[in-house]
Amino acid sequence: MEVGRFAPSPSGRMHLGNVFAALLAWLSVRSAGGEMVLRIEDLDRNRCTAEYERLLREDLLWLGLDWDREQRPQRLGDADYEAVLDRLADRVYPCWCSRSTLSEASAPHASDGHVIYPGTCRDLTEAQRAAQTRPAALRLRVPEETIRFTDGVYGPCEEDLANQCGDFVLRRADGGFTYQLAVVADDIAAGVTQVVRGRDLLSSTPRQIFLYRLLDRQPPNYFHIPLLLAPDGRRLSKRERDRAMDVLRRELPPQALIGTLAHAAGLIDADEPVSPSELARQFSWDRLRPADIVVGEGSLRACRD
Ligand code: GLU
Repeated sequence: MEVGRFAPSPSGRMHLGNVFAALLAWLSVRSAGGEMVLRIEDLDRNRCTAEYERLLREDLLWLGLDWDREQRPQRLGDADYEAVLDRLADRVYPCWCSRSTLSEASAPHASDGHVIYPGTCRDLTEAQRAAQTRPAALRLRVPEETIRFTDGVYGPCEEDLANQCGDFVLRRADGGFTYQLAVVADDIAAGVTQVVRGRDLLSSTPRQIFLYRLLDRQPPNYFHIPLLLAPDGRRLSKRERDRAMDVLRRELPPQALIGTLAHAAGLIDADEPVSPSELARQFSWDRLRPADIVVGEGSLRACRD
């Protein structure tokens, strides 16, 4: 059976882009008769709040996007993540480089903006390691190898891990696990077979597929979806409170909101109110247009870029 998930972070009120991601994840799994899991991704404890978490659930239910089970929230130092890290121990090494030393090193940057790790701490001797006094991050050694996969929306994708990404961090120096490790551990624990998320995370996927391989698990199918952009081309954001749910809920009933989004994405021919269940009956990934969607100012009319 297909298992999909919502994996929202309660670091602000949902915006239209989050609604779009939740809608597509729901349609994909419900149209296949599968099971939906809700996982609140609160890795970043400083920005996530219980009140945003409550509002998230309420907003999803207002939209008519339900779930069958919940996965426990992520926690710093979780035993499951430790267990995953243990299994990767052969490839993991301590790293003392700070973000600022790395950016000063003028190393090349990957497509998502992170510095491609130049390998500074990879081959330190035991004596050099013992001489360090600060806590270390833990980094995963990547091979000279190209990871290939087929995205359900964007088609064939590939990344040369060593040259386009570099060794990446699994646990930060402060002890916190990174998104890359946590998302793979959690999706495995929940039995997730399909991942639907914004195309801003497409560049993380080769790292995650590599982790699945090291853990000897089958990766899920990936469907990355177009982004919703403000008229100036910037991604909608929680921080700037773009098209946030409190405003959207005052402007429109849920089915009108869903109809507008589905129409802008190419899923239905007319911009008319529609329920998620009606949409699920006719849903096909082939209909989704991969172009990003520009959300018009002052109105919810979304148009294709
Ligand atoms: N928590 C992430 C977000 O809110 C989603 C991560 C994922 O789907 O892998 O954007």
